[in-house]
Amino acid sequence: MIRRIDPGFQRRMLCLILMMLLQNLAGNLRMSSSYAIVLPDLIFEPQYQPYSKDVLLGHFEPSEHPDFERIRGYNAHPTMYLQRQAKLALDSLIAAAAAEGINLNVISATRNFATQQRIWENKIRAKSNGSFQALTKNRQLQIVQNILNYSAMPGTSRHHWGTDVDFCSVELAFWRGNTGSKVFRWLQDNAAEYGFALVYTQNRSGGYNYEPWHWSYLPLAERFLEDYRNTVSYEDLAGFNGAELAEELEIFPRYVQNVFDPMFAMLCTP
Ligand SMILES: [Zn+2]
Repeated sequence: MIRRIDPGFQRRMLCLILMMLLQNLAGNLRMSSSYAIVLPDLIFEPQYQPYSKDVLLGHFEPSEHPDFERIRGYNAHPTMYLQRQAKLALDSLIAAAAAEGINLNVISATRNFATQQRIWENKIRAKSNGSFQALTKNRQLQIVQNILNYSAMPGTSRHHWGTDVDFCSVELAFWRGNTGSKVFRWLQDNAAEYGFALVYTQNRSGGYNYEPWHWSYLPLAERFLEDYRNTVSYEDLAGFNGAELAEELEIFPRYVQNVFDPMFAMLCTP
């Protein structure tokens, strides 16, 4: 008896094989310096310098960092910063949206470790009545997992990198409403042209919940993620309540790396 193979499965397998071949090719090319001379910048940049661990973990002051620039005039949040290249792309994205009557208010951009720590500790305090360390480990795990639905541990947020922004509102109700749906449709149709993508999409398994407000400038953020993978270890996560649970909760694979993969989506979209 001949069984028909599900065409969806066939396509997924083909994508997987193609991805593996591409990754293999990229790995080989990186190892061979003679190829670097003839390869275009799009594929491989010979002078590429990894980002510092301090920036990857958010241990810096955006207002004093030479790569960061203040973003102005979008809304009532006066002191927000982004990496210069991301800021320029964001300016173009916002202008294009405005020309079509879409208001892209930025409500959050770069958040350093200290800012993320304040957010994190406020949530820990609220959920543990100020006595987190006195709780059982199981209760601590429950609380931390609950906070992780929408908030990153300090040292693990993409907002540290200066490549990611939150638009308009962090309430799902806004995005389900008329204005939010219109903004979201516009972003879906146009953001990629300016380098921005939704990273916490609906179809991932585990990790942060769906965040229609969070958009990432991928030309920089992809490099940050790669450097983060290669540089940061669980020992680097310290100085806040729940830090000692990071490894058990598999924060790196389940949260930091659990994002929409643009290359996979490009290859696998029918
Ligand atoms: Zn965000």
